[in-house]
Amino acid sequence: MRPYRDVHQADVLVFGAGPAGIAAAVAAARRRQTVRLIELQSVVGGVMSCCPGMMLGSGYPCGTSVGGFFEEFVGRLFDHDPPLAERRACDLENFGDEVVYDHEYALSLLYDMLREAGVEVLANHLPCRVEVTGDEIVHVDVATTRGVEPFSAGVYVDCTGNGDIAAAAGVPSQMGDDEGRMMGATLTFFMLGVDWDRAFPPGFDPYFTQYAERGIAAGRLPRTMPQIYLLKGFREGTVFFNTVTVTGVDGTDPRSVAKGAQVARRYVMQLARFCREEMPGFEHSHVADIGPSLGVRETRRPEGLYRLTAADITAATKFEDGVVACDSPLDEVFRDDSSSVYSHEAALPKGEYYTIPFRTLVPRKIKNLLFAGRARSVDLKAYASGRGMPQCMVMGQSAGVGAAMANEERCTVQQIDRARLVRELVREGVNGIGGGRL
Ligand SMILES: Cc1cc2nc3c(=O)[nH]c(=O)nc-3n(C[C@H](O)[C@H](O)[C@H](O)COP(=O)(O)OP(=O)(O)OC[C@H]3O[C@@H](n4cnc5c(N)ncnc54)[C@H](O)[C@@H]3O)c2cc1C
Repeated sequence: MRPYRDVHQADVLVFGAGPAGIAAAVAAARRRQTVRLIELQSVVGGVMSCCPGMMLGSGYPCGTSVGGFFEEFVGRLFDHDPPLAERRACDLENFGDEVVYDHEYALSLLYDMLREAGVEVLANHLPCRVEVTGDEIVHVDVATTRGVEPFSAGVYVDCTGNGDIAAAAGVPSQMGDDEGRMMGATLTFFMLGVDWDRAFPPGFDPYFTQYAERGIAAGRLPRTMPQIYLLKGFREGTVFFNTVTVTGVDGTDPRSVAKGAQVARRYVMQLARFCREEMPGFEHSHVADIGPSLGVRETRRPEGLYRLTAADITAATKFEDGVVACDSPLDEVFRDDSSSVYSHEAALPKGEYYTIPFRTLVPRKIKNLLFAGRARSVDLKAYASGRGMPQCMVMGQSAGVGAAMANEERCTVQQIDRARLVRELVREGVNGIGGGRL
């Protein structure tokens, strides 16, 4: 490794280029901040690239768009000629509409939005050490094939999904249930060339349970697959599988993820063959777009100024510093193989929604760090709601605006004027916050 050269300076350093990180970087850059986006993979997108084609769920609480970055992004896909995305009702109970899209175009659009905003995207960059003095991050060492180099910023935004930067900076966090078990991780894939009419007859069971039972009984599907969750993709004849799920994976441990992915890959091929041979409409189909990695749903929940609870959700609480609206169910994926069924119990009365407070994105002590997206301050039950990509995008947007405000006002992240932040977000088109209702 080469010795240190100059420290790379930026106003805002965002870690993790998933839905939250991209929105954070764009939001900060649009406020004239110099922004670098550090991503350990070779592409941006987060779950949108490791689970290509994953639907954007939960973007329409009570039937209305959450607005902000989400609305801008999907709006550009809808407005394209021909359209590159479609809003559809979700087949599962208690979920509202979701957005299906052409994933190659969608990822390219994310790159366009980053470029237009002037964000420097640093893919294949792995943060390896966080230097903290007192209650402030001083710099972060980042490794590439060329060596390790320090990056510093006014504000650091952790959108790694796993809260890696927060953890390395000493922010306490919880992980998993009482036994440390986390939701299963999934390897997604598509089947192309499916006859939709025959595969999805009127009144079809979205979990194709009878087929799953038959496959397990014949020893053709793993015992842990009592439900096969698949849905129509954006393009005619494509079917997206969000169903090959493995438990016991620790998403913060790359070895554990790699091991789980190997098991899952075998299950994907088993399931694809089963579908082709046993399920109507799949006879002439073939596998495509297997995710390059497992999609990890759950890891750290860093501690913030406020911890959102399941009781807050049930009470449809609208916080003064709420930054995004949500009515998602408690979208729980099994944590061990004893039941292996998905559940999505309604979290709050129908027609109601809650908001996610900005304080769940602000650590208690570190003065120049925010987190956003999947990693946020919530209790275990509340974690299962509010992790949809639209919510993550708008949380990221709020962190980007907050980071810019902290730099502009030379204040700590704890001192950000949250009322003003919410007004700024409303101005940027975020719906259902700041006293306005959806
Ligand atoms: C299998 C599965 C199914 C899902 N189904 C849906 C669905 O149908 N609809 C929906 O809306 N949501 C769904 N979700 C939830 C949603 O995708 C995630 O909650 C959301 O993507 C989280 O966004 P994020 O930006 O916080 O994190 P991520 O999308 O996970 O992105 C994090 C990014 O950070 C990078 N990174 C990680 N560690 C580091 C590091 N140390 N340094 C730098 N970069 C790092 C990662 O490579 C990644 O690019 C699903 C998630 C999974 C895994």
